[in-house]
Amino acid sequence: MKAFGTEVEVWLLCSCCVRNAVALVFLYRLPWKYNSEMKEEIVMSSNKQLIDKLHEKKGLTKDEWIQLFESYTEEDRLYAAEKARAVADSVYGKDVYIRGIVEFSNVCPNNCLYCGLRAGNKNIDRYRLDEDDIMECCRDGYKYGFRTFVLQSGEDPHFTTEMICRIVKRIKEEFPDCAVTLSIGEKSYEDYKAYRDAGADRYLLRHETANEEHYKKLHSESMSWQNRIRCLRDLKSLGYQVGCGVMIGSPYQTSECLADDMIFMGEFKPEMIGLGPFLPHSDTPFRDEPKGSYETTLFMISLCRLMLPEALIPATTALGTIRGNGREQGVLAGANVIMPNLSPVQVRDKYMLYDNKICTGDSSSECRGCIENRMESIGYKVVISRGDHKKL
Ligand code: SF4
Repeated sequence: MKAFGTEVEVWLLCSCCVRNAVALVFLYRLPWKYNSEMKEEIVMSSNKQLIDKLHEKKGLTKDEWIQLFESYTEEDRLYAAEKARAVADSVYGKDVYIRGIVEFSNVCPNNCLYCGLRAGNKNIDRYRLDEDDIMECCRDGYKYGFRTFVLQSGEDPHFTTEMICRIVKRIKEEFPDCAVTLSIGEKSYEDYKAYRDAGADRYLLRHETANEEHYKKLHSESMSWQNRIRCLRDLKSLGYQVGCGVMIGSPYQTSECLADDMIFMGEFKPEMIGLGPFLPHSDTPFRDEPKGSYETTLFMISLCRLMLPEALIPATTALGTIRGNGREQGVLAGANVIMPNLSPVQVRDKYMLYDNKICTGDSSSECRGCIENRMESIGYKVVISRGDHKKL
């Protein structure tokens, strides 16, 4: 209305003066100026409206997601972060859960194009921990207050189903008050069932992208998006607390891909969501690709928190790698989990999914102390707890 009013006023004034040529210039220029300013205003307020809608309805349409990712401003991001933090506080208070990761093998037969552990990387020094080493890591972690152990590896065929089940059982027997999370890749339904029967509580398997075409550009031909999604659905059906997640800013990712991710997660309702920026590894085909956006990663954390208030969302090591205080900012954007490393220090620099990973030289006690201080500095506290999903 404002632009229209201005347009009419200018036209009338100029008609009186019979200076049509000047009027036409005014007509062309003034409304254009007003329209472009107004458009900017409309987009900004509309992004906030979309964030409010997400908060209230727990979902958006695909076009709305795309609009958000394509046009969000720093102000929008902070607006979403404030709301997301309030939501996280209302569900989990000021508590931050810690999970101790034991990276027990960096052997993998797959060739994901972004990953430093890929089989095609001949510059990596491969290692495996044995069962006693793994138990020792857990004992160390238990001493420092960890009540969840995350067993993570490449898809190493050396570790048979029986071996994984035996390790899970040993941990559950020695630490009955602890949760065991597995993060060992794509397996059959029967394998997942066996691990679950052995006592595994949770499973992390990032879907990486919910857009099938995009998935193909990140993985070798031997891997398929359908199988990844089949795995996630199997895990859900077996009663695991399931974590999926996305690499933000991976090569070929578009706003539409991110919209697909949000829609997928809104439907799948994972109990855990891992979100980290893409960081290139120098021994992979993506070595020269740019890093993912720190800001978009934080924005995604906030959007996920608004969509799934009870989700367990880590402020990832990748976030702390791309920015010194990235994990603190992740928590302030709505995350509520930190996952320090419990692996023996001598193998940590061999488990490099991407370059320059932080905390590879710190002992478990140093990691624990560092995280505690970082959380206290922003008004949060690390708690000694399994930290289960609130709905379970
Ligand atoms: S992302 Fe996982 S499956 Fe792919 S190469 Fe790396 S460790 Fe193997």
